[in-house]
Amino acid sequence: MYILDNHMHLRPDGENVEAVKKFCKAGGTHIFLAHIPYRDIPITGEDGYRKAFDRTLAMGDRVRKETEAVVFISVGPYPVDLVHMVEHMPLESATKIMMKGMDLAASLVEENVVVAIGEIGRPHFPVSDEIVMASNEILEHGMRVAKEVGCAVVLHTESATAETFKEFAQMADKVGLDRERVVKHFCPPIIDVDQNHGLFPSVLATKKNISAAIPQGNRFLMETDYIDDPRRPGAVLGPATVPKTTKSMLQEGVLTEEDIISIHKANPERIYDISIE
Ligand SMILES: [Zn+2]
Repeated sequence: MYILDNHMHLRPDGENVEAVKKFCKAGGTHIFLAHIPYRDIPITGEDGYRKAFDRTLAMGDRVRKETEAVVFISVGPYPVDLVHMVEHMPLESATKIMMKGMDLAASLVEENVVVAIGEIGRPHFPVSDEIVMASNEILEHGMRVAKEVGCAVVLHTESATAETFKEFAQMADKVGLDRERVVKHFCPPIIDVDQNHGLFPSVLATKKNISAAIPQGNRFLMETDYIDDPRRPGAVLGPATVPKTTKSMLQEGVLTEEDIISIHKANPERIYDISIE
């Protein structure tokens, strides 16, 4: 049985490899490692995102060497970076650096080093209209380069509503990116395509969420958003949650084997153009 966690972060000062070992021990087989900012690598005009992305890539290699898990990586300029950058530089310069980060992520997709661009989007907390507008421009650029290199984007945004789903779907349409290749990370269990406008939901793997999702179908992914932050223990789901939830819900008869094949194999294969084996 294949079991994929669609959104994990691993930090050099966190549990990293040990967390993935727990995931494997519980029956997990594949992970998506998503880039996150590192406090000791500020994004600057000179270096841009290169150093920061390199650290995520190195972590991916380490996990491949030291665990049984198959690791897919996504990198992208984290939306909140913009908020920090404008404390030191004009918005216009910060926007340029973020856009270059999108280009770098796209070139890593072309080199087959990463499989998707993300997480990208908008800060999850209220920000000025200026920041929202710049974030939208940056995101649209990210979707455009994703379309060019033929990959998916992983969205990090404020809480998803019918309106925001529609907004991002229209943005994808504008640049010609397949709506299905816009993966909404930290998505509520809104699986019905009429309601999520065809974006692809990645749902936090709680039993409550999965129970709400599955009556609408199995067109979704599961994730923990494991944050691996020693300063915030227990802030999010533990690294073994996706395999544990999947197996226990199969036993309870809430999930069928067919559902599990869709969620953990067929869906990610189609959306990310990868093979799960
Ligand atoms: Zn995340």
